[in-house]
Amino acid sequence: MRLSKLVGRRIKEIPRDATSVSHQLLLRGGYVRPVASGIYSILPLAKRVLGKIENIIREEMNRIGGQEVLVPVVMPRELWEESGRYQSIDASMVRFKDRNQKDFVLGMTHEEAMVALARTEVSSYKQLPFMLYQIQTKFRDEPRPRSGLIRVREFTMKDAYSFHRSEEDLVRFYDECYKAYEQIFKRVGLKNTRVVQSDTGMMGGAVAHEFMLEAAIGEDSLVLCDGCGYAANSEVAVCKYQTSSKTSEKLLEEVKTPSCKTIEDLCKLLRVTAAQTAKAVFYSFKDTSGEKILVFCLVRGDRAVNDVKLAKAVGTTSLEMATEDQIRAVGAEPGYASPVGINTSKNLMVLVDQSVVEACDLVTGANKKDLHLLNFNAVRDIKCDYRACDITSVNEKDSCVHCGHGLRLTRGIEIGNIFQLGTKYTASMGMSYVDENSKSQTPIMGCYGIGVGRLMASVIEDCHDARGPVWPKSIAPYQVHMCVLDAAEETVQARAKSVYNELCLKGIEVLWDDTNSQAGVQFADADLMGAPIRLVISRRTEQRGVLEYVMRDGSAKGDVVASELIDFVLSKTID
Ligand SMILES: [Zn+2]
Repeated sequence: MRLSKLVGRRIKEIPRDATSVSHQLLLRGGYVRPVASGIYSILPLAKRVLGKIENIIREEMNRIGGQEVLVPVVMPRELWEESGRYQSIDASMVRFKDRNQKDFVLGMTHEEAMVALARTEVSSYKQLPFMLYQIQTKFRDEPRPRSGLIRVREFTMKDAYSFHRSEEDLVRFYDECYKAYEQIFKRVGLKNTRVVQSDTGMMGGAVAHEFMLEAAIGEDSLVLCDGCGYAANSEVAVCKYQTSSKTSEKLLEEVKTPSCKTIEDLCKLLRVTAAQTAKAVFYSFKDTSGEKILVFCLVRGDRAVNDVKLAKAVGTTSLEMATEDQIRAVGAEPGYASPVGINTSKNLMVLVDQSVVEACDLVTGANKKDLHLLNFNAVRDIKCDYRACDITSVNEKDSCVHCGHGLRLTRGIEIGNIFQLGTKYTASMGMSYVDENSKSQTPIMGCYGIGVGRLMASVIEDCHDARGPVWPKSIAPYQVHMCVLDAAEETVQARAKSVYNELCLKGIEVLWDDTNSQAGVQFADADLMGAPIRLVISRRTEQRGVLEYVMRDGSAKGDVVASELIDFVLSKTID
């Protein structure tokens, strides 16, 4: 490919609003262009990278028996009503009417379409297990698209769905897929990946893992144990609390705490740490009959309520902050609240975090203005109905439940996920097969996703320097970037042509800078395009009878004689 013909302008300046490295470099190198918020056009350079990533994914999916299919992006409402998700998914799913006023949706995931396909084609136990996958466009109307291709609204995903006769068979295949995923991320050149336990969210199911790239710009908060290798998304991460074995002898005691509305004020006045306090946090939601329910959470003062854990404990994602009137209605005093002495009410749900249940002699609210209680012990002192549960995030240095080591918090970009779904979709959508005893059975499902564009951006986050992406050779858009200086000279021009033709004949992908720009401009372009090998042909190299090479990853540079060039390039680009 001649650079002068390549569509995709290089930009010198760092684009405004592009906060992540991958976003900046994808724009600067002419890889992608925004069309609308979270919606991008893919230019030739990026299309080449994505094609290679897709091929690696395809090879690994085929290796474990996957069969590639393509189900539509546009699906009728009825399909999503069968699974119950037409109603349960929020505005992130785009719904629209066709010209005949029929309701349709844009696929943001494809469980429904795959089950609908599989149930018409599969009827016997002899056909199980099997896995279908596709590489297809999806649309999710994200409220906050950001970081370029990391969080977008329109995206390409590899999504796979497996169908099994038993839990054991699902677990066996899940393991195979887990290994295939490790292989994929290794082959695309990612270095800092981790697998963590994760929440199953709107997918449903019991067991799930996320493949994460450790990166500061990641949206996910990860909890890691360097002692035993425990790793979990903070949405599901757990820790061990120091429990005192003996019950407290000390009695509840009121203490005056004038204008101590925050935990900090309280700690200062009473000379205690935040971990020695219990704070109340209130939420509200409407139940199925439309009644407003107050969710009264009591958590240790040093801990934050985790939205995902809370939503799971309550059973709804539409939680709002409660009003002071709602709080007072149950006999609690905002700013000085605890479940001690409050009224029971059918519109009240009291959740006490495990951190409070397992602690001894805490300071908590007395439900009277300017008063707190000392020596609060949840199990002894809460008289109303309550549920002990885990609704807070793990803190840095909390103890690992498995080995007691201090936990570490870091951030990650989710690059893939795998779920053991169970029968959520096959049961609700009536997929069945006949077993060897002629009995009708419901297949058990797993599903497995990888965002292809996000994976490309993640590789840049993981493999770059100040000048541009350092593409791993497995997915680099071109293997060789040929810079030609003094191009007006005949010998130089002739050399460029013959080198280009020879490399192309050997199937090596070459980008030929035929722009005759200054060396600095050519080298800056080469860095932005990130080909593993940069070759330089110039008057000087011609005089010396060599070509200069520089490896993009900084591992080597030097001269190579023209007659040895092909072997040299092949040795550097093929494993
Ligand atoms: Zn551990």
